[in-house]
Amino acid sequence: MYKDMDKEYVLNTYARNYVNFKEGQNATLFDESGKDYIDFTAGIGVVSVGHGNKRLSSAIADQANSLIHMSNLYLIEPQVKLAKKISKLYGKDVATFFANSGAEANEGAIKLARKYGLKKHEGKRFKIITLENSFHGRTIATVKATGQTSFHKPDFAPYPEGFSFVKDIEAVYSSLDDQTVAVMVELIQGEGGVLPFAKEEIQKLASFLKSKDVLLIVDEVQTGVFRSGEFLASNVYEVEPDIITLAKGLAGGVPIGAVVTPHKEILEPGDHGSTFGGNFLSTRAGLEVLDILESYKHSGELDETCVYFDKKQDELQKEFPNIFKEKVGLGLMKGFQCFESIDLSKLIDAAFSNGVLVLKSGRNTLRFLPPLTISKDEIDEGFERLKDAFKKIN
Ligand SMILES: *Cc1c(COP(=O)(O)O)cnc(C)c1O
Repeated sequence: MYKDMDKEYVLNTYARNYVNFKEGQNATLFDESGKDYIDFTAGIGVVSVGHGNKRLSSAIADQANSLIHMSNLYLIEPQVKLAKKISKLYGKDVATFFANSGAEANEGAIKLARKYGLKKHEGKRFKIITLENSFHGRTIATVKATGQTSFHKPDFAPYPEGFSFVKDIEAVYSSLDDQTVAVMVELIQGEGGVLPFAKEEIQKLASFLKSKDVLLIVDEVQTGVFRSGEFLASNVYEVEPDIITLAKGLAGGVPIGAVVTPHKEILEPGDHGSTFGGNFLSTRAGLEVLDILESYKHSGELDETCVYFDKKQDELQKEFPNIFKEKVGLGLMKGFQCFESIDLSKLIDAAFSNGVLVLKSGRNTLRFLPPLTISKDEIDEGFERLKDAFKKIN
């Protein structure tokens, strides 16, 4: 019934699966017929503290009962607290601008970088270099920043100037010119195959860029908020980017984005803004999410879950050495690169039929982004179901 309604009234931009989820508990979802699914997707890395999290829903309800929204013309107490919390968890002296999504956070990062180019280099610098197979969003600028030509369809041209992407980090060095203001990278390319860059490679790039006064923007929309096992992947890589963007997991499903930077003096009143960004509801949700995840990390549970998930992946790979070529990823941003001959959509469909939700990344990577609070039982059940599902098609 809703399928026909969807087709009639919702614009056709997604190849949807028409399952109708009604309820969720941590990493378990229930559809309208009562069938349950283990969720290894968390709404693409968004539902960081699990579905139906009572602490989060109570905080949201409490906030909604007093104030949902005012405007950034006035002080927003939870916004101030969330910005301070981000600085504390990251461990650096940074300030934050709040937006509503990852793409919007990256737009903010691009504006901040260009203003930096204007102020510090007399307006000469404006170009942004990104990497092949990156993903930075769907707005007209961030889609151009995305390093995949399949995203730069002529259908939506013309695109803004000043963006180019290069093959790999090594190629960044030779492509900088005196108009380059920033290099934007993901430390683990989420949509590009869940492949972490080498730590030394990133550290070398960071210090090179610093020596040239070219900004390093790290897009942590997917890797941020404990997804990598630490608060930020920048913590794992031990780099201090000029700008970090966050979104997906930050408020557990309430839309939010964040531009985090030590360069507090670049933007001035009027330079940037947002109606919804940083409002009472989303920042209160973000605060609760960070409180929950901070203690989850502190107690050692998050690290244990990462290790346990990894072990289960090893076991699955041993069962299907002809499907899975290589285990990839970091923390709870994981996957398997599959052999070329494997039809990934078949794997995903088989998993779904057997009650497990999984994702695709890049051309041939099966991707897992479970809620960070997923239980051992849910992990066990998920992998058991995957095993059954893949046995049937193998
Ligand atoms: C998801 C994602 C984005 C886009 O975020 P939206 O909230 O969909 O705009 C940008 N960068 C990365 C790395 C992402 O994973």
